[in-house]
Amino acid sequence: MNFVENEHKILKFWKDNNIFEKYQKKNHGKKRWSFLDGPITANNPMGVHHAWGRTYKDLFQRYKVMRGYDQRFQNGFDCQGLWVEVEVEKEMGFKSKKDIEKFGIEKFVNACKARVMKYSKIQTEQSIRLGQWMDWDNSYFTMSDENNYTIWSFLKKCHQKGWLYKGKDVVPWCPRCGTAISQHEILSEEYKEVVHKSIFIKFKVINKQNTYFLVWTTTPWTLPSNVALAVNPELDYVEVKKEQETFILVKEKADLISEGKIVKTFKGKELEGLKYEGIFDELPIVKQALENNGHMVILWDEVSFEEGTGIVHIAPGCGQEDFQLSKDFSLPVIDPTNEESKYLPGFGFLTNKLVAKDETRDLIFDNLKEKGKVFKIENYRHRYPICWRCKSELIFRLVDEWYISMDDLREPLKKTVKKIEWIPSFGKEREIDWLNNMHDWMISKKRYWGLALPIFECDCGHFEVIGSKQELKERAVSGWEKFEGHSPHRPWIDEVKIKCSKCDKQISRILDVGNPWLDAGIVSFSTLKYSSDKKYWKKWFPADFICESFPGQFKNWFYSLIVMSQVMNNTAPVKTIFGHATVKDEKGEEMHKSKGNTIWFDDGVEKMGADAMRWLYSRQNIIHDLRFGYNTVDEAKKKLLTLWNSFYFFKTYVKEIPNSKSQIPNSKNILDQWIISKFNNLIEKVTQNLDQFKTSQAVLAMENFFINNLSLWYIRRSRTRLQKPKDETEKREATEVLYYILLNLTKLIAPVIPFLAEEIYLSLKKKDMPESVHLSDWPKTYKRKIKPDLEKKMDLVREIVSLSLAKRKELGIKVRQPLASLKIKSESSKIKNNQLLDLIKQEINVKKIIYDPKIKEEIELDIKLTPELEDEGKLRDILRQIQNIRKELGLKPSHRIFIGYEATGRIKKILARQESRTQILNETKADKIKYGRSPNIDKEKELKIGQDNLWIGIKKIK
Ligand SMILES: [Zn+2]
Ligand SMILES: [Zn+2]
Repeated sequence: MNFVENEHKILKFWKDNNIFEKYQKKNHGKKRWSFLDGPITANNPMGVHHAWGRTYKDLFQRYKVMRGYDQRFQNGFDCQGLWVEVEVEKEMGFKSKKDIEKFGIEKFVNACKARVMKYSKIQTEQSIRLGQWMDWDNSYFTMSDENNYTIWSFLKKCHQKGWLYKGKDVVPWCPRCGTAISQHEILSEEYKEVVHKSIFIKFKVINKQNTYFLVWTTTPWTLPSNVALAVNPELDYVEVKKEQETFILVKEKADLISEGKIVKTFKGKELEGLKYEGIFDELPIVKQALENNGHMVILWDEVSFEEGTGIVHIAPGCGQEDFQLSKDFSLPVIDPTNEESKYLPGFGFLTNKLVAKDETRDLIFDNLKEKGKVFKIENYRHRYPICWRCKSELIFRLVDEWYISMDDLREPLKKTVKKIEWIPSFGKEREIDWLNNMHDWMISKKRYWGLALPIFECDCGHFEVIGSKQELKERAVSGWEKFEGHSPHRPWIDEVKIKCSKCDKQISRILDVGNPWLDAGIVSFSTLKYSSDKKYWKKWFPADFICESFPGQFKNWFYSLIVMSQVMNNTAPVKTIFGHATVKDEKGEEMHKSKGNTIWFDDGVEKMGADAMRWLYSRQNIIHDLRFGYNTVDEAKKKLLTLWNSFYFFKTYVKEIPNSKSQIPNSKNILDQWIISKFNNLIEKVTQNLDQFKTSQAVLAMENFFINNLSLWYIRRSRTRLQKPKDETEKREATEVLYYILLNLTKLIAPVIPFLAEEIYLSLKKKDMPESVHLSDWPKTYKRKIKPDLEKKMDLVREIVSLSLAKRKELGIKVRQPLASLKIKSESSKIKNNQLLDLIKQEINVKKIIYDPKIKEEIELDIKLTPELEDEGKLRDILRQIQNIRKELGLKPSHRIFIGYEATGRIKKILARQESRTQILNETKADKIKYGRSPNIDKEKELKIGQDNLWIGIKKIK
């Protein structure tokens, strides 16, 4: 079975016969099940981690179609934002925002759009290859006018409630991207371990001779902005004297001053208000800022002694907590950086230098050394935040950004979150936890390719928010004709001016674009036609189900989706949120291009096949990371091969599909009754689990069924009924049962492995059945066919068999060697059914089963060999050798053979018996068996059986 080849064949079959279109229409107008796709960023080819989530999406949509639900099959592409910009910049070799402006915003934005179109096509092809069924010509794009304008209406609602505001704050800032990074975007992964040069500085205390505060920092570029020092009021501080100098620092760090002598110990609060000399007082900007009050010591509970000296340098222009302190203590704020992260004018020798550069740091060090302010400099290893997009080290910068206030929303949002069913259940706590801890939502970015924030701001302090295209047209006083015909993006949208409703001045849109999670968060309105077709929206909102990989989404998509629905409609956007972990490599490590352990989707799927990947994904426990690699997929593939081999066995021995009219076969055979019972149990279990979105339980139940029950027991014990039936009834019964199982099993597996299911289905289907397994209805359970008592007894049978086989192995007696009897303890006599006992006899090759309550163990094998038993064993050896030669010659079951042989002793006698010869002729499909070394043969073998020699030669005759 070549999975990959088969999948290409099936893809063609689906396409040629428009199967998807028929599937899409199958339940039109019936009860709805609303799936809402979380958009994939159309910025690169799809990865194997995307394929995991997409497998679930497809699996549940297919399942619900088979269950008779009407659905939407709309895939989504996420289009706008920094991630696309950064890739385009890389492509064009741009280093900074200046390069973009030089190139032209219009050309740049068009290049971003083109990239999205290119990769959305590639991702579509890849998803089709995975077997995902979507209405691909009707995918939504978050860059669409509808999506953008619906966000405008959301922002207008926020503004009407008084939640939209412009705030000044110190925020993480990427020097390369030239934009703020919101709290929502910084994940724990976005930190990197780095070594920075840290410095211990001497700050001279005013009016105290030769006395210095010893202060430590890892960000020397912030030192020119220093306005205060903070100490903890409750900690013990010391004065340490060394030679002519005295240092003040926290007691725990006194030994930093080697050979120093503690001369005084006191509480931190005694330092409050002390003045000190700045280290950059000569810079014009510092002079100006500190003219009135100078530098002084403040008290702050957060200061600890673990790092540094217990005295913290405070620069409100460069740190979030520092900025807060400047408000609490009315400290001046010295803002050092511009958008490019260069020092502003007024910083003397530093003006125009990049702040976070090593050269700049060295300039600062040299300057401080010259002034005699340096105590020591040493390397310091720590975790430092980096840009999630371009991996540059972030700085902290004071900026104006736009925010949505969360104070009024926090509590209603928590209530909404509780109404949603979260899978896994811890999702709910994580989302609540995020809602408790999140700050106001920063929605602006100083970039180019994104939602144009519809905020128009006037010098008079007034700002307005436009809620729709129509409203903008009505308010426009100039530039409309330049904008019309374009998408609502920069630079076109920036042409439109309106009049300030306070002062009548002509005003422009702020240049900022929106946070990309606004784009994805609005889709439960925009893609469901909230603005254009309310009836349609009401039919499909809220969604029943969304599915994404959960790391990150609690702060991102899940969050924005819920917030936007809360503001727009006061309800949850979705009933069930299904999350899963992430894909790692086979060793459990992150896949990284640089590590060389990445498997590209295209490579993976063409080497391993989509079904094997889908099986691996679906059987995984969603809360654990999935180990993906050629070996793990191969293991999944082996399981599917077992299923395939069961089907192949059927196909080999059953040439005509049974034409029985009944839905479920009626067999007297106990093995048949058992497998039918097991199978109906399976249908029930899979249905229940899939209804509760428990994929791995459903898939593992199927796997257990087709490996342990169907292949290793039912087919194993039914082989002879199909290969060499005693009579027609026996063959008919076995055929009908196996047919029923295989046909309906294809329906159970169809949502998970759509290709293999289709391949098997197509060769089992009768004329009056749907032309594709995916157009079939979900199989129904026949409760009356479930026989718990029989299942229990069969468990016992299989237990006795496995004990007996283990015993044979232990004693070194091959299963081919018949034994006289097996004794089983009374407990086992519950089986009391001849058909079941026959199964044991056949499987473990004994003549008789005896109940004996007196034996010590559960079973006891009689291993005494009579000459008759020995002869029988030897005959089985010979039969096996002949079958092996047939196999080596590559013969099919239908091929007939001639057997020549020569033997000595006992073997010669066995083969002379008529009943032995009849058995050989029957079992090996031989027409003739003849004594003597015939030269006219295809293959021969010299063998030793016991003490005797045997020569066998075989020839294919037809
Ligand atoms: Zn960046
Ligand atoms: Zn105004």
